[in-house]
Amino acid sequence: MVPLSGRRHQPRIAALWLALLCAAAITLSAPAAASAWARHTPVPILVYHHVQGYQAGNYLMYVSTSQFASQLRYLRGHGYHPVTMRQVWDDWTGKADLPRRPVVLSLDDGYPDQYFNAARQLRRYHWPAVLNLVVHNGTALRDVQVRRMVDWGWEIGSHTLDHAILTRCSSATLHRELVESRRVLEHKFGVPVDFFCYPGGIYDRRVMRAVRDAGYLAATTIHYGAATPYGRYALPRIAVYWGESLSTFGSRMRQAVAQAR
Ligand SMILES: [Zn+2]
Repeated sequence: MVPLSGRRHQPRIAALWLALLCAAAITLSAPAAASAWARHTPVPILVYHHVQGYQAGNYLMYVSTSQFASQLRYLRGHGYHPVTMRQVWDDWTGKADLPRRPVVLSLDDGYPDQYFNAARQLRRYHWPAVLNLVVHNGTALRDVQVRRMVDWGWEIGSHTLDHAILTRCSSATLHRELVESRRVLEHKFGVPVDFFCYPGGIYDRRVMRAVRDAGYLAATTIHYGAATPYGRYALPRIAVYWGESLSTFGSRMRQAVAQAR
């Protein structure tokens, strides 16, 4: 979600909590009628930030490398198949089928540990993940590392230019954060960037409309739940947190999917 440390971190952490406490998701009616979706397979989208030892601040910002490794073993052992947002979209729109027990692993912001500690582990399984990248990434995940992750099957989502809290942005700034971030990421990494992730999980109806108008197919939040095509500009995710037991990790995914059916 945010750069590692410093005073700028704190308001953003507060914003994260604010969004987590926001009980009611705002929905933007999809342009397509509900019956237009070929399928509405519920998919758990996991949210990670740092994959490394705990540093400071919010426990939702960290899982340890060994915890991440255990979770990957759990997913494999329980028949889950990590997929990209594009694969989910293709299932919902009837272009392709998802594997049994799909799950999306999304990693926000772009930290070096996501390359060193997450991508390298995922590569052993030949599993994709989603990197929600901030363009002006002051966190030192280098372009060459992102390119390698793309080569390993990662999908890139836009997480804005500056990790701006979009509800506070003027219309011009909002447009720039959405449109320019997409353009830069697509140009730099040579891949389509069709999915968006709200910084801090914070959005409102105006922001959702702008995301839709910028051409994104869907956008993710930090509301708890499994994603379905309904309310596609406010897709829920499941935040994985420091020290979470594997049984809790598994039951939160199962519960989210069951609730979305
Ligand atoms: Zn973020």
